[in-house]
Amino acid sequence: MEILILGCGVSGLSTGLRLLEAGHRVRIWAKALPPHTTSNVAAAVWYPYRAYPEDKVTAWGAEAYRAFQRLAETPESGVLMADVLDLKPVAVGDPWWVSAVEGFRHARPEELPPGYADGYALAAPVIDTSVYLAYLQRAFEARGGTLFTRTVSDLTEAFAACAVVVNCVGLGARELLGDREIHPARGQVVRVRANGFRRVLLDDTGPNALAYIVPRGEDIVLGGIDEDGSESTALDPATRAGILRRCANLVHHFDAAFAASLRALLTAGERPGAGSAEETVRAEMVSEAAGLRPVRSTVRLERERPAPDRWLIHNYGHGGAGVTLSWGCAAEVVTLVAEIARPA
Ligand SMILES: Cc1cc2nc3c(=O)[nH]c(=O)nc-3n(C[C@H](O)[C@H](O)[C@H](O)COP(=O)(O)OP(=O)(O)OC[C@H]3O[C@@H](n4cnc5c(N)ncnc54)[C@H](O)[C@@H]3O)c2cc1C
Repeated sequence: MEILILGCGVSGLSTGLRLLEAGHRVRIWAKALPPHTTSNVAAAVWYPYRAYPEDKVTAWGAEAYRAFQRLAETPESGVLMADVLDLKPVAVGDPWWVSAVEGFRHARPEELPPGYADGYALAAPVIDTSVYLAYLQRAFEARGGTLFTRTVSDLTEAFAACAVVVNCVGLGARELLGDREIHPARGQVVRVRANGFRRVLLDDTGPNALAYIVPRGEDIVLGGIDEDGSESTALDPATRAGILRRCANLVHHFDAAFAASLRALLTAGERPGAGSAEETVRAEMVSEAAGLRPVRSTVRLERERPAPDRWLIHNYGHGGAGVTLSWGCAAEVVTLVAEIARPA
């Protein structure tokens, strides 16, 4: 079939690639291409964060987990498997998504820093989005997919070009569809040079929340914040300082020298004779970024038939887990397209 995908983040590209593999002809129209998408800002560790409903997220996440395990065997994909420690301030049961991952256990007491009573330890994919989105785009184009920079303001534009449209516009669904269920949750990350620290550390409910440390190939992503309703993608120095402080506290138990270097980033500018805080921090950091998570009550993945000869498949609203769910959702879109071609 001829298929038009709207959006070129991780959802649009993964869906496009799977549809090409299934034998369809696919083109993508997107307002912005990588590296200028929210997907490029993602940390990105496999973790079902702010995405619902739980049963579907677990199934989509499991499919993506397996796909990323395979991709980790291809170094140029930017995907690697990492040890993750998700720290908890109180004793907790297993997470609802436990069946999606391998090697899950609760943290041993000696692994827990002061202030934490429990933790999830698991192997999970880390996806270096600075490498991975470009890898996906190359794979999509190598299979014959085509990409166009084009903003769609009304779906009739898209249907004028193609009878089957797949909507992967993320937060853009607010304007395109008038979807009032989706809203932005602002995130900001700081990237520092890689220094040999390899473990992913997460705290989203404990004394340093929200903090995450995600070592990738060339750098380490430090986060974060999660500000519901904020529309700003401007970089905020106070937010950066808070991220550095919380991540220093989080990593101290595991690597005191790493923690000290993060604290040095914070205080270097305050010493007499040192450059301004801004200059000093910038000299040490690799980069930083801010983005808006597309949070929705539930991921919208469903098929509509707006006219007898038109099909619309939605795949958006993945919250803080668009990368985590990408291959699972892409596979479901392929199934929904196959049902159009071969009605029951
Ligand atoms: C700081 C931060 C950290 C994160 N960390 C993680 C993580 O560790 N793990 C994880 O899984 N997820 C993480 N996320 C969430 C993840 O980034 C998103 O869930 C994911 O990027 C959503 O992908 P998407 O392709 O649906 O949307 P996007 O990446 O936003 O792509 C949407 C595409 O649609 C296009 N578009 C929009 N409107 C239109 C229109 N009208 N016409 C044409 N094109 C349009 C855009 O230009 C873009 O190409 C994080 C997010 C942030 C901000």
